[in-house]
Amino acid sequence: MSNTISNDRQFAVRLMQHLVVPTFVLNSKGEVIIWNKACETLTGIRAEEVVGTKEHWRAFYEEPRACLADVLVEGRDAELGGLYEAYSEPGEKHQGLRAENWCVMPKAAKRLYLAINSGPIYDDDGNLIAVVETLRDMTEQKQAENALKSLAHKDGLTGLANRRTFDMTLEADLLHAKREGASIALLLCDIDHFKPYNDIYGHQRGDACLKTVAKAIADQVKRPTDLVARYGGEEFVVILPSIDQDGVMRVAERIRQSVFDLNERHKGNKKEKRVTLSIGAVCLYPDENLTEADLIEAADEALYAAKECGRNQVVAADIKS
Ligand code: GH3
Ligand code: MG
Ligand code: MG
Repeated sequence: MSNTISNDRQFAVRLMQHLVVPTFVLNSKGEVIIWNKACETLTGIRAEEVVGTKEHWRAFYEEPRACLADVLVEGRDAELGGLYEAYSEPGEKHQGLRAENWCVMPKAAKRLYLAINSGPIYDDDGNLIAVVETLRDMTEQKQAENALKSLAHKDGLTGLANRRTFDMTLEADLLHAKREGASIALLLCDIDHFKPYNDIYGHQRGDACLKTVAKAIADQVKRPTDLVARYGGEEFVVILPSIDQDGVMRVAERIRQSVFDLNERHKGNKKEKRVTLSIGAVCLYPDENLTEADLIEAADEALYAAKECGRNQVVAADIKS
C-alpha cells in the first residue's frame, strides 16, 4: 500500500516536472518542494537552487517579498492590492488566487509580465498541505495592450497627448484645483502663418515642422503634473496646475523663445522669416462655476490678441474677477 502511495506521489511529481506550464509547489511551511523544468527555463533558476528553501521570490524580484503561493500559505489575502498590479478578488478559501505583475526576474535578466495562479491543496481533514503556483508569460500581450492604450491617448504625428487625453486631463485638473483651492493655467499655442508654410514647402515638410515644434514645446514643460497636447492642426495646448501668473508667463515665454530659436526657415512669415509661435495664456483660481470651456475661451481670446498684436508673442488673458 505504502509503495502505491509512494509510486502515485512519484508519478505526480514527474508529471509536474515535465508539465509545459512553469509551476512550483510550496509545502504548508512555505518551502519549495517542486520547481519544474518550465519554471527553470522561465526564471533561469535551477530546482536544486530553491527546493527546500523559501528563496523562490529571488526568481521574480530583487527584494524579499511574498509570492502568490505565500499569500495562500500565510493567509495574507488582504495584502494582494499592495503586492500585485492586477488581481481577482479572493473567492472561497478553496478556490485559489489569480494575479498579474511585472517581475524583474533578476536571474533571467528580463522584465516579464506574468499571469499567476495559485491553488491550495488540502488533506481529507481540510488542512492545507501544499500550494501550487503556475505562471504564464503575458509580456507580449501586455506590451500590445500598452501600445494600443498609447495609440488611444497619443497624437499619431507628434507623439504628444491627443485631444481626448487633453479633455480628460483638463476635466480632472480643474476639479482638483476647485477642491484644493489651487490655481490652474492653460497655454494655447498656435504656429504663425502655417497655411503659407504648407503652401510654400509642401504638406510633408509641414508635418516635419509640426513634429519639431511639438518637441520644442514639450522640452520646456518639465513638471510631471503638466501636460502638453496637440489641440488640433497646428495648435498645441499646455496645462499647468498649481502655478502662479509669473510662473505661467515664464514658461510661455520660454516656449515662444525655444520655437524662435529653432530658426526654421519660413519665407511666408514676412516679418520674422522663420517659424514662430503665438501663445494665449490664462492662469486663475477657479470658482465653483468655472468650466473647461471658460478656460479654453479665455486662452483663445488671449491667443487672438497675440495674433492681432503682430504674432510671435505671449499675451495673458484679462481675467475679470
Ligand atoms: P495664423 O498665423 O493666423 O495662425 O495663420 P495660419 O496660417 O497658421 O492659420 P490657419 O488656421 O489659417 O491655418 C492653419 C493651417 O495649418 C491649415 C493647414 O494647412 C495646416 N495644418 C493643420 N493641420 C496640419 C497637419 O496635420 N499637417 C500639416 N502639414 N499642416 C496642417
Ligand atoms: Mg490655428
Ligand atoms: Mg496658425
